[in-house]
Amino acid sequence: TPTARVDRLLSSLGYGSRTEMARMAKAGGIVLDGADLTDVSKRIALSPDLPSRMEIDGEPLDPLPGLVMMMHKPLGMTCSHKEDGALVFDLLPGRWRRRDPAISTVGRLDKQTTGLLLLTDDGALLHRIISPKRHVAKVYRATLARPLEGGEAALFASGELVLEGEDKPLSPAILEVITPTEATLTVTEGRYHQVRRMFAAVGNHVEALHRERVGALTLPDDLPPGEWRLLTPDQVALIF
Ligand code: URA
Repeated sequence: TPTARVDRLLSSLGYGSRTEMARMAKAGGIVLDGADLTDVSKRIALSPDLPSRMEIDGEPLDPLPGLVMMMHKPLGMTCSHKEDGALVFDLLPGRWRRRDPAISTVGRLDKQTTGLLLLTDDGALLHRIISPKRHVAKVYRATLARPLEGGEAALFASGELVLEGEDKPLSPAILEVITPTEATLTVTEGRYHQVRRMFAAVGNHVEALHRERVGALTLPDDLPPGEWRLLTPDQVALIF
C-alpha cells in the first residue's frame, strides 16, 4: 500500500494548502480512527478503507485518488473544463474541482446528449476505455426526425461508411430499430459527434440522444439526471 504525508494528501484532494492543513489539525479538525491527528507531517497508508476511518471537519474523507464515477448527464451541460456556461463538473462538490490529479470525463457527450457519463482521475483507465482498439461498446438511444428507411442497419454494420470530411471508414456499428423514429446504436469508436453524423449520413437527423450503456455498465434507473455515484471495483470491471 502506498503512503502519503497527511498534509500532502489533503492538499491534493483540494482541502487547502499544507499550511491550512496544519492549522486545521491543530484545531482538531482531522480525526483518524477516532483520535485527533495533530502532526500532519505523519505518513499514512492509502488503504481503500481510509475514507471511512478519517474525518475532516466532521465529514468522512473524500475518495482517494483512483476514483471512477458515473453520472447521469443532463441536457445542456458541457463536458469540458475550458468552456463557458454550465459544466458537468459543476455537479460535483466544489472541492473536487481542486483535486490533483484532476477528475476528467471519459470521452465526451455533446451538450445536448444525456445519459451515462464516466468520470475518473485515473489517466491510464481513461485511455483504456476510450481507445478504439479496446472495442468498448457504447450504446446510444436516438430519437430521429424522420422514419428509418430500412437500409441503415446494413450500411452501419458494413464497416464501409465514411463520414463527411473523413477518409477512414467507421468500424461496424449495430442498429436496433425500436420504432420507425427510435433506435439504439452500438458503436466502439468515439469520433466527434459520431452518432449524429452517422444519421446525417443517411439523410436523417437526431433530435434526442441518450447513452444507455458503456461496456456492460448500464445507467441505473434510479440515477436521475444531474446525479452521480462512485463506482465499485466490480462496476468498473463491467466496463471492459
Ligand atoms: N455521438 C454523438 O453524436 N454525440 C454524443 O454525445 C455521443 C456520441
